[in-house]
Amino acid sequence: MANSSMGGARAKLRKYFRENLGNVVTSDDLRKEAGISEWARRVRELRDEEGMQILTHHDRDGLKPNEYLLETLALKPVIARGISPKLRRQILERNGFTCQACGAAPGDDAPCEPGKKVRLQIDHILPISQGGTDDEHNLRAVCVYYNKDKTNILKPASGQSISALAMIRKLPRNVQIEVYEHLRKKFGDGSGRRK
Ligand SMILES: [Zn+2]
Repeated sequence: MANSSMGGARAKLRKYFRENLGNVVTSDDLRKEAGISEWARRVRELRDEEGMQILTHHDRDGLKPNEYLLETLALKPVIARGISPKLRRQILERNGFTCQACGAAPGDDAPCEPGKKVRLQIDHILPISQGGTDDEHNLRAVCVYYNKDKTNILKPASGQSISALAMIRKLPRNVQIEVYEHLRKKFGDGSGRRK
């Protein structure tokens, strides 16, 4: 009973923010809309668990402390916060420390931010907002530059090459070098010359 009414409040607030896209709403509006005293926690969940880009005075100078603003329906990738460090490690190892969207590895040059290095985060394959869970089968590693709405800013990699890269990155360094040498002999050094 308590749970379903809390989920109901979150759904009401989600709908309210969408209907007021681009308009500043106040904490009074939100409290009234949610019908519960814990409305602020539900707003935090919409931001942190669903990736809604709800701005506050922390994000935007023009907003007062009791004002909130949703400017876009685009969702930010949600970092899975609820999962344990152990599960996080398990997902990273399973994915061979390879971004499952673009194939990048930690420490690679970032594809869209010159001078920055790729870092990996844990992503929900089916978003929490659509019923996804923190179950390991719903989790995967993606780089921090991956954005569900802007996948085209990353150099796309095929699923097969991502799996192959992930597999190779799990191997000891000397074996990785052997693989590299084989491919280098076959394809040259990339400049078209063969040795
Ligand atoms: Zn990536």
